[in-house]
Amino acid sequence: MSRGSREVYLPLATGPLAAPDGRSVVVVGGGLAGVAAATVLAERGVEVTLVEKECYLGGRAGAWSERLSSGESFEMERGFHAFFRQYYNLRALLRRIDPELDLLAPLEDYPILGPNGEVQSFRDLPRRTPFNVISLTARSPALGLADLVRVNGRRALEMLTYDAERTYGRRDGMSAGEYLDSLRFPPRARHLLFDVFSHSFFNPEYEMSAGELLMMFHFYFTGNPEGLVFDVARAPFSRSIWEPFTRYLESLGVRIQTGTSARTVRRLEGGRWSVMTGRGALQAEGVVLAVTVPALKKLVAASPDLDEPAWRRGIEGLDLTNPFAVWRLWLDRPTERGRAPFVGTTGLGPLDNISLYHLFEDESRAWYEKHGGAVVELHAYAIEPDQDDGELRTRLLDALHDVYPETRNSGILEERYLVRRDCPAFAPGSHASRPGVETAFEGVTLAGDFVKLPIPSALMERAVASGFLAANYLLARDRVRSEPIRSIPPRGLLAGVPLRRPFLSRPL
Ligand SMILES: Cc1cc2nc3c(=O)[nH]c(=O)nc-3n(C[C@H](O)[C@H](O)[C@H](O)COP(=O)(O)OP(=O)(O)OC[C@H]3O[C@@H](n4cnc5c(N)ncnc54)[C@H](O)[C@@H]3O)c2cc1C
Repeated sequence: MSRGSREVYLPLATGPLAAPDGRSVVVVGGGLAGVAAATVLAERGVEVTLVEKECYLGGRAGAWSERLSSGESFEMERGFHAFFRQYYNLRALLRRIDPELDLLAPLEDYPILGPNGEVQSFRDLPRRTPFNVISLTARSPALGLADLVRVNGRRALEMLTYDAERTYGRRDGMSAGEYLDSLRFPPRARHLLFDVFSHSFFNPEYEMSAGELLMMFHFYFTGNPEGLVFDVARAPFSRSIWEPFTRYLESLGVRIQTGTSARTVRRLEGGRWSVMTGRGALQAEGVVLAVTVPALKKLVAASPDLDEPAWRRGIEGLDLTNPFAVWRLWLDRPTERGRAPFVGTTGLGPLDNISLYHLFEDESRAWYEKHGGAVVELHAYAIEPDQDDGELRTRLLDALHDVYPETRNSGILEERYLVRRDCPAFAPGSHASRPGVETAFEGVTLAGDFVKLPIPSALMERAVASGFLAANYLLARDRVRSEPIRSIPPRGLLAGVPLRRPFLSRPL
């Protein structure tokens, strides 16, 4: 962890490490957010029941067993995940089951491939701002000096001046696409430099808040003291994360109920709550709702005791973004030597990234060593809801052939194709009413990657930080010691610096 990280205790309670006897919490949702909350609460001696709709933990980062037609079993996942180094809270969570984080392996580069052999590399960029920005700009094949003169410098500087209140205040009403257009980067540079950010959050550019995009820039790049590098899981998530976590939580006494949905939340006498599930009612002093957006909306709609009108409107205003597709292919020929395990792509139709699983994950590597060939995963984000599957697959395969021509002659031995729609929308104008972890109801907290947080954070890290925070709010009622929450610097390097140089004075 670099010296640039910050420890923020929210809310700060410095009392004993153990909760008073008999405290209980029901955590609804067994994704990263719910597991993070359950972990902290159980470690402090709270009796936790974790209710998960699916028959496995992990939610969108979960995995389940399937069989290939050869009879070999394998673990299918919801798709490739990058574990960035500034995911301090996720890493702290994973250290519970693997103190040295041996489950993760570093990836050396995160290249972006475009049409006609274009490559943008993020390898060995300086970690500090503004050197990282200068270096990336200087090495970009799609950006010359003449282009830089035309760039709207003042707008571009907003990437270095992130400040939650000011940034969301000024830019939440604008779309990410409009913001990126206003920078006046040449189209090739815009794709190579920025699609990696805007596409990675599943939202279509013109339907995502520019405030949210600027927070993401700050979180992943301009404010990230760890650099734009990430690790990957060496083994399927089921083996590397969820089986060890199940054992860990059970060792702390957590009752894990998978295959059960929560349906309603009711207020009881004496400040207690009752969560009705498919297996009956669970009563507790506290509840963490760590479910997906549609599940939360349904739960709240069915729970009249969660009756604060402004809060309910905030929940009703949440939405999902467009679906995404994940296509795992077992090919009968290998990919060329020297291919990167993971690449982002741009300008290649709907294709967003390519993962070569046989190059980093043990199960796929074993399959490759036995059979030859390749295990490839293609992702397409923010696809149209009525997209024709056959047409999408053809376009994805064409794009794969374009960037990795050796795959043109490969036969597909096996495939798994998933289209899902469960990632949150971050629509322009949605920040002000986005619900936070604390709710209007004493003893009820929210967690998940769609929840508003007081620190810059996204995706898996946002899920875990919100889960820690949800636990802290419940523990603070007994002044039980908070779980440390770590963050990158909350503001940009130039936040608050008056920028009045003439070349910056173009009207906004
Ligand atoms: C294809 C893909 C690629 C991704 N890549 C990355 C990446 O590279 N890096 C990154 O940081 N993030 C990535 N993400 C995002 C990451 O997976 C999510 O941000 C994170 O897993 C969200 O965790 P969560 O706990 O907030 O929500 P979820 O994982 O959605 O958990 C919610 C849980 O609630 C359960 N549930 C729903 N309704 C009920 C109910 N009524 N009762 C009980 N349980 C219920 C669900 O089954 C689910 O398990 C990716 C996501 C996808 C889909």
